[in-house]
Amino acid sequence: MQGRRIIIVGGGGNAERKAGRLIQYGARVDVIAEQLSPTMQSCIEDNQLTHIARAWQADDFKGATLVVAASDERQSDAEVGAAAEAAGCWVNVANQPQLSNFLIPSLVDRSPILVAITSSGTSPVLARLLTARIDAFLPHSYSELGKLAERYRDQIRQKIGNWRQRRRFWEQLLNGRIGELILQGRTQNTDQVLEQAIQDYDGDSEAQGEVYLVGAGPGDPDLLSFRALRLMQQCDVVLYDRLVSEPVMSLVNQQAEKIYVGKQRSDHAVPQESINQLLVTHAKRGKRVLRLKGGDPFIFGRGGEEIETLASESVPFQVVPGITAAAGCASYAGIPLTHRDHAQSCLFVTGHLKDNSVDLDWPALTRAQQTVVIYMGLAGLPFICEQLIKHGLPSTHPIAIVSQGTLSNQQVITGTLSTLASLVESEAVKAPTLIIVGEVVTLRDKLAWFETRH
Ligand code: SAH
Repeated sequence: MQGRRIIIVGGGGNAERKAGRLIQYGARVDVIAEQLSPTMQSCIEDNQLTHIARAWQADDFKGATLVVAASDERQSDAEVGAAAEAAGCWVNVANQPQLSNFLIPSLVDRSPILVAITSSGTSPVLARLLTARIDAFLPHSYSELGKLAERYRDQIRQKIGNWRQRRRFWEQLLNGRIGELILQGRTQNTDQVLEQAIQDYDGDSEAQGEVYLVGAGPGDPDLLSFRALRLMQQCDVVLYDRLVSEPVMSLVNQQAEKIYVGKQRSDHAVPQESINQLLVTHAKRGKRVLRLKGGDPFIFGRGGEEIETLASESVPFQVVPGITAAAGCASYAGIPLTHRDHAQSCLFVTGHLKDNSVDLDWPALTRAQQTVVIYMGLAGLPFICEQLIKHGLPSTHPIAIVSQGTLSNQQVITGTLSTLASLVESEAVKAPTLIIVGEVVTLRDKLAWFETRH
């Protein structure tokens, strides 16, 4: 568009929107209209537009490249369109795609990377909503990645003559470590890393693999982080277990090899040692290995053990936090974990039953003004309630159990230390379940929101 004459006929809302986009494209625009909206007026003052304050004439379009008819008046727009087309211009008539021979898409700008979106004139609102979504989803750092590619394009073309090999090199670069560094905002020495990669390239070397230890959250896929989703979509192999919900799994790269390493409570399907080893083996073969975990990998997730092995084997890895079950279930159940009137602290403990008993610091769990969240506590629930009473909590102390938290079939049962165990038994509650103990449970009566929306 640079150096060309571009004309908008009209000075109201339609013209304003079209002008906004054309300015975004770097165009210099003449606006022909007797009157301008205040926004258009301010664009003139900012020198982004030139105003020709009169009605249009057919010879206005001579020598123009693009003409946009956007007067908010259909008949007049159609006439402008016909006159401009007769003058040999490209024509865009607002809201009349059948009279237009070009469209002005909205733009998500990560220059030099651009995403253009159009509804082909059928629904500007839908196009705008989609633009906003893509804009929110696409990290701004893609711009840096684009610029880096621009800087090294020639050098890489010279170094790797074969286009197939060159394409593989680029894929590994952009999808691999360097792409990741930039998307994480760690841009300080990417040029150095890239130059090293170019120098080291010897035609058939294996790519360096990496492990992504990713928290998948409690179940609702909307609770994934942007980074989690990005890594899920670029992995070659995924190791997952029972806690990762189906809707989350469906977002993993369809082409990735899927390995189930789930454990049942008493039946360890794949021993931890073997999982650690699988991660190392795949990464050393140059694969991008996704280790997907329910909730947060560092909260009762053995994430620490897995990356310890990676660290000692010098396999690169990164850890992505997830929303832990306590946070997810509490929010979706309407039970704030802390509250100025009820709880100043919150404990996360595991209620895993071993030899019919749960080994916990009971006096610490029965302190006043505190919420206790118990993971893996379903089987031990009767024992846990009994111990809490034995160590000083009243039998009327509130307690809740959240089953399949944050998923559409979430179920919450509230009761007291003396009633909950039998309520749970009669309701045939489904795993996974989380137990919340404390006065905050009573707030659910007022604050429940999730179930009532269905
Ligand atoms: N790393 C996970 C916890 C793993 S331990 C996290 O941060 O959430 C497994 C326990 O987490 C389950 O036994 C259950 O107590 C709890 N849990 C995980 N997801 C849950 C969900 N959607 N609803 C209820 N409890 C859940």
